[in-house]
Amino acid sequence: MTIRQLPETIVNRIAAGEVVERPASVVKELVENAIDAGATRIEIATAGGGLSLLRVSDNGSGIEPGQLPLAVARHCTSKLSDNIFDIRSLGFRGEALPSIGSVARLSIRSATEAGEGAEITVEGGELSAVRPAACNRGTVVEVRDLFFSTPARLKFMKSERAESAAITDQLRRIALAFPGVRFALTGPDRSSLELPLCEGTPEKAATERMRALLGHGFAENSLPINAMRDGVRLTGRISVPSYSRGNAQHQFVMVNGRPVRDKRLAGAIRGAYADALPRDRHAAVVLFLDLDPALVDVNVHPQKADVRFRDSGMISGLIVGAIRQALSEAGIRPSTDAAS
Ligand code: ADP
Ligand code: MG
Repeated sequence: MTIRQLPETIVNRIAAGEVVERPASVVKELVENAIDAGATRIEIATAGGGLSLLRVSDNGSGIEPGQLPLAVARHCTSKLSDNIFDIRSLGFRGEALPSIGSVARLSIRSATEAGEGAEITVEGGELSAVRPAACNRGTVVEVRDLFFSTPARLKFMKSERAESAAITDQLRRIALAFPGVRFALTGPDRSSLELPLCEGTPEKAATERMRALLGHGFAENSLPINAMRDGVRLTGRISVPSYSRGNAQHQFVMVNGRPVRDKRLAGAIRGAYADALPRDRHAAVVLFLDLDPALVDVNVHPQKADVRFRDSGMISGLIVGAIRQALSEAGIRPSTDAAS
């Protein structure tokens, strides 16, 4: 028996399987990179459900030409902090671009404020040389023929329509957390989205973005949430029970600005409404949890949608308490003995 190290291209393809599940995950990674680069305007264009084309353009800091090969190299990141338990950027693993480059045709065109524009391409893991290219300050990342090098994964894709819908849903989740960024998604008719920049105080901007994404119905049938416990701040809006939905698609939870999906938090929301809603109905909620990054581990899963709280019981309690209090202050009184 001989033990050998796997070739880099295979390692990247394996990692890609975890980071890049479908076109929506590529959108997530690229949009997060744009936000980390300080962009205030992010445009996303798609074709073929994102499988034939995904293009994300931003007006962020840009990448210097000499850095382009590093941007697409594995485990290379400009966001490194000495303490992986104190992560403030959305990215930190240096895995997205090399992963995407190993399963698609990736091109990155970028320019910094000071420098000339340049471009690099990666196809199935093969890097091109860096070439000069015309580009405004910022970055344009283009991903074509996603999963062309991994046909088995390609077979798992749903219809173009379903993939487009997943892209829109993903973008809505991110956009809720970043009202100071203007987003434009162009794709097939129903998936397009245009979100202007929201100004004013953070609360005002957040409320305006919520209105843009969840509609006037939500704005008018929801209550503000504002609670604090042990240094954890919870803000947002929750729907009144009469404005319930048939599914939980309208529940958004952001932890330190990062959209997360967490069964326990979803359970806490359900518990808070237990007596106010029938089992098959779901509240619409937008919750922002802000806490010391040291109290939450975002490094649980490559897609970073899972989080672990140091004290998840306290977080659940905070959510249940705050929702119940808001409902009760509004004269909607769930009984107090329901599960929490
Ligand atoms: P990570 O985000 O974890 O650092 P990525 O593979 O997503 O890893 O990106 C690698 C690096 O490329 C980033 O750390 C950043 O320096 C650079 N980069 C990627 N996208 C952009 C962008 N849109 N604007 C500026 N720099 C970018
Ligand atoms: Mg990234």
